[in-house]
Order: sequence, then structure tokens, then C-alpha cells
Amino acid sequence: MGMGYRLLVVDDQKGIRRLLQELFQREGFEVEVAADGMEAIELVKSGVPDVILMDMKMPRMNGLEASETILKMNQDVAIIMMTAYGEIEMMKKAVEVGVKKYITKPFDIIVLRDMVKETLARGFQAG
Ligand SMILES: [Mg+2]
Repeated sequence: MGMGYRLLVVDDQKGIRRLLQELFQREGFEVEVAADGMEAIELVKSGVPDVILMDMKMPRMNGLEASETILKMNQDVAIIMMTAYGEIEMMKKAVEVGVKKYITKPFDIIVLRDMVKETLARGFQAG
């Protein structure tokens, strides 16, 4: 499903970065990883991915700030926010800056995979 698409995983937990990198590489995506918002912004500057899986809580720069900056740089990038229970207020702010989807941790990777698939399918419809 991911052939030709670029996906960026942003999470401060190494285990999650590895898990998602392996999963989406198997699906044919070209996957990049970043450990915090600042790293993510640097990667986006050198090439905008089709989909970003963005953790909310991270050191240095959280997912909310990073999403806001990235969406100002490029409105077309699809960001899926990975939130934890109790981050409702931050999630509301994320929606205000243009984040359209979120998944609550701990999540089922199949659900996340299908969410990415659906996001890409909508992109096709929008042209
Ligand atoms: Mg985190």
C-alpha cells in the first residue's frame, strides 16, 4: 500500500520508532524517524513526507508545536497525532492548528495502518 510514499515517524520512544518503522517499511513506505519536534522540522525542510505519525509528548519540542510549524510550511501534509489518555486539551489545540486525525496510545498497529491507508486514499480523491 505504501509504495512510493514517504512516511515520517516522530516519537521520543525508541521502541515505538522502531516498531512503526518496521511496520511501514514492510508496507512499502520510505520511512524516516525523528526523536522530537525539532528533528521532525529539520527532516520536513529537506523533503515533505506524505504522512507524519506524530507523538504528542516529547522533550525539546512537543507534537503540538511541531505540527503547527510543519503545517505552516506545508498545509498538504497529513499528520496523525499519537496521544495518550488525558491529553484532550492538547488534542483540541492540535485540531485548531490543522491536525485532522489522532490515535490514542496504546494503539493497535492494525488500526493505525488502516488509518494511514484511509488517509492516503482521501489524498487521491482530493487529487
Ligand atoms: Mg512521548
